Amino acid sequence: MIIVTKHGVTQAELDHIRERVESLGLRTHVSQGEHRTVIGCVGDESRLEGVSLLSIPGVDTVHPVMRPYKLASKDFAADPTRIPLGGVQIGGPEIMVIAGPCSVEGHEMLLQTAEATKAHGARALRGGAFKPRTSPYSFRGLGEEGLELLSRVRSETGLPIVTEVMDTRQVDLVASYADMLQIGARNMQNYNLLMEVGRLRRPVLLKRGMSATVEDLLLAAEYIMSQGNPNVVLCERGIRTFGTATRNTFDLAAIPLLKSETHLPVIADPSHAGGRRDLVAPLSFAAIAAGADGLIIEVHPQPETATSDGDQSLDFDEFAGLMQALAPFVEAAGRSLPV
Ligand code: PEP
Ligand code: MN
Repeated sequence: MIIVTKHGVTQAELDHIRERVESLGLRTHVSQGEHRTVIGCVGDESRLEGVSLLSIPGVDTVHPVMRPYKLASKDFAADPTRIPLGGVQIGGPEIMVIAGPCSVEGHEMLLQTAEATKAHGARALRGGAFKPRTSPYSFRGLGEEGLELLSRVRSETGLPIVTEVMDTRQVDLVASYADMLQIGARNMQNYNLLMEVGRLRRPVLLKRGMSATVEDLLLAAEYIMSQGNPNVVLCERGIRTFGTATRNTFDLAAIPLLKSETHLPVIADPSHAGGRRDLVAPLSFAAIAAGADGLIIEVHPQPETATSDGDQSLDFDEFAGLMQALAPFVEAAGRSLPV
């Protein structure tokens, strides 16, 4: 921690700041400038957590040196974390593509989507059974029946299933079906839910909240990991900005930034980021070029009839075209698609 003092700080104030920091078990190192004095605090920075340094007379600003996240930080792990799902190690050399409808609507559409996307390289099936909808009057998912359908299609196709859990009360139920638990953007800071999925060892797909900073996302991952579950995959799915041309603003820079901050795998969701099917391919290319470990893409047999997110869902031909066009980007990024 570095403490910068106010202009004109007195010696008594300086002594008091140092005493306060040293009383917490850290050492201080003072650097006297012409106008300001900077105090470097050396030692276990976590001891200063919760201490209101800014309220000590003479303190102007305080700058943490260590990252607030620990388990999620790159300092914590020697190698990138790999999370196995559907025969792919997410975070390894292969690019994981998760595809499927926004919502599970029925058996036939789910099976067709799973088969079509699998044939073109998807290695996991997504589909919401419990849907977080902005309006309470929108279709909110089939609930447990949707989970049953996912599990049936998993046995029919062999694809692992990725589905959202929205509530602490549903964690055990959803985990009894899902191979990967999705925490949606609207729940990224639902700390009780994060801690509940942290009790399990099931992989978690943690989507970035609409107004979350990169640090907020990493701290949300830290909540899960601090409970003992190390299997967290981060997902950039666009954030809210003042731009209205796209559903969200895809924060491309967050991908390489996250990759430099954390050992956890990072995937991108170009469907929710752009909100339009014609943007899915270019955003996918960009994400892979920027270092993403995978993609999650909404696909529907007939997007115009979809109960949710039809505008951004690809049909089967479009998905096949995307996978074909993606290949050179995957290769250029030094990665491969699972065969
Ligand atoms: C979804 O994946 O369908 C979804 C609701 O995503 P998000 O939480 O990112 O909005
Ligand atoms: Mn959706």
